[in-house]
Amino acid sequence: MKPILTVMLAMLSISLFAQDKEDKFPASATELYLDVPVVTPGSNNEPPSDAIVLFDGKNLSKWKKETKDSLPGWKIENGELVVVPKKGGIATKQSFGDIQLHIEWMSPVMKGETGQGYANSGIFFMGKYELQVLNSHGNETYSNGQAGSIYKQYAPLVNASRPPGTWQEYDVIFTAPKFSEKGTLVSPARITVFHNGVLIQNNVSIWGNTSFKGLPKYTKHDEKLPLALQDHTDPVRYRNIWVREL
Ligand code: MG
Repeated sequence: MKPILTVMLAMLSISLFAQDKEDKFPASATELYLDVPVVTPGSNNEPPSDAIVLFDGKNLSKWKKETKDSLPGWKIENGELVVVPKKGGIATKQSFGDIQLHIEWMSPVMKGETGQGYANSGIFFMGKYELQVLNSHGNETYSNGQAGSIYKQYAPLVNASRPPGTWQEYDVIFTAPKFSEKGTLVSPARITVFHNGVLIQNNVSIWGNTSFKGLPKYTKHDEKLPLALQDHTDPVRYRNIWVREL
């Protein structure tokens, strides 16, 4: 190697070393030390340690009738919560805003029923925004009304339904809508849903209150409201219901 090249290479390496010494952005500059809460995850399908358990198979103490402050008319059988047709929807006594929800449900086997008539129920976030519960295993209906749809708004990305008579689960992240003082919508509700572990709603913006007829729209409401379950006159079963407030 020519002497001049050797000297140049030596100077370059000294200069790089000096830059390294004066590095204004060492790796530690982007490392955070926060007080991250510790949560013990559940084992054997149990809730995590910071969950609010809404139904554990023992009683309905966390629930009331949807429309008034009286005992819910649904029954518990084998540790499972069963819709009693025409007793009306039920709602949590506690109000929630942003939550993670875990809920398991089972469609009964129903002879002669089709479409929206086959094991219809629903999970109403804030009592207003429905995530559909329905038998959608080999049961045709409109796509934005099948299991896992945001009813009359979003069809699920895929149909991950199990047959009637088998347990299924939803894991949901729900973000409450925000309103200005005057009542205008600042940010819509958002929802992400996993059905039996499969992503079916990916952080979609909810259009407004679930509406059977006509377009959904928002009406200003409290920051927190009860979670409700629908009585659509079918004996759908629920178990292992818990939320984490976000
Ligand atoms: Mg429904």
